[in-house]
Amino acid sequence: MGEDLEKLKQCLPLLDYLRRQNWTARPVGRGGEVVGLCPLHRETRPSFYVNTRKDLFYCHGCGQGGDLIRFVELSQHLSFHQSLAYLERQSVPPADPAAVLERAAAFYQQQLDGYPEARRYLQQRGLRDPALIQELRIGYAPGGSLRRYLTAQGYSCDLLQHFGLVDRQGCDAFYRRVVFPCHQNGRVVNLYGRSIVTSAPPHRFLPGSKGGLYTWEQVRRSPEVILVEGLFDYAVLWQAGFHHVTCALGIHLNACQFQQLCDRPRTVYLTFDVDANSSGQQAAQELAERLRAQGIAARRVLLPQGHDPNSFFVQGGDAGQFQSLLEAAQP
Ligand SMILES: [Zn+2]
Repeated sequence: MGEDLEKLKQCLPLLDYLRRQNWTARPVGRGGEVVGLCPLHRETRPSFYVNTRKDLFYCHGCGQGGDLIRFVELSQHLSFHQSLAYLERQSVPPADPAAVLERAAAFYQQQLDGYPEARRYLQQRGLRDPALIQELRIGYAPGGSLRRYLTAQGYSCDLLQHFGLVDRQGCDAFYRRVVFPCHQNGRVVNLYGRSIVTSAPPHRFLPGSKGGLYTWEQVRRSPEVILVEGLFDYAVLWQAGFHHVTCALGIHLNACQFQQLCDRPRTVYLTFDVDANSSGQQAAQELAERLRAQGIAARRVLLPQGHDPNSFFVQGGDAGQFQSLLEAAQP
C-alpha cells in the first residue's frame, strides 16, 4: 500500500493534479512555493499554498493541509481508500486514441458472428462475401457491452467518454449498429456505425475527424477512381469487381480527402445518390467543378432515379450495367 502510494505521488505531483482541475497559481519566493485561491473554501484573496518540493499544500484560510491524497479526500469527499482508487484512475497515462479505437473495432468485429440480426442486415445490404467482411473488419455493436470490455482492460470511463465511445450516462454510443473502422495511414481514426433498426438515426460517427478517403492507399495510384458516399456503396462495388473505388463517408469532402483526389492527374467518377431532394447530385456537381479547377477530370455517374450504388446492386443491377453507367458518365 505505502509503496503504491509513493509511486502514485511520483506519477502525479499535487501541482499537476491541481492544474488539471484548472487551478491557477503564482510563484512566491524561491522555495518552490506557489499560491492561489483555495479550492476547498470560498475566498477572494489567495491563501492556498503548494510547496512543490515537499508536494504538500496548506491553506491559511481554512487551515487544511496535507498531501495529494488528503486534498482528494477533502475536495471529492472520499475516504482514503476511495481517494487512492480515484487517483489511480486519474494517473493512467493519456491513451493513444488509435489504440483505443483499434480495441473497440476488434471487439465489435468479434461480436459479428454472435448476432444473426447483424449478419442478416449485411445480407440485406448485399454484402455476402465473407472475405470482404473480414478484410474491411466489419463488426457489430450489440450495445451495452463495449464499456465493460474496455474498462476491464484498464481504460477509464472518462477516457471512453472522451473518445465518444460511451455517452455521459456511460452507455455505449454504438447500439445495434454495424460498425466499420475508418483508417488513415494504417491507424484507426474513427468508427462508422450504421443502425440496423429504423428507430435510430441511420448514420453515426465518433466525434473527431473521419480521416482521409476510405482505403485510399489501395487506389491512389489508379488513373481512374470511383468515388461513392457510403461504405455500403463501397462494399457492393468492390464485391462486383470494381476495385478502384473509394468512399468519402458523406457528400462533403474534408480538406484532406479533396487533396488526395487532386494529388495527381486522374479521372474521378462521382457516384453519389440520385435522391428525391437532389442533394447528392448537387454536391456531385459542386465537387466536379472544384476538381476541374484543380485539373482533375470529373465525371458524374447517373444512377437510375432514387438509387445509390448499394440499392442499384441490391435490386439486381450487375457489373455490366454499372460499367455502362460509368461509360455514359457526364463530364
Ligand atoms: Zn482553504
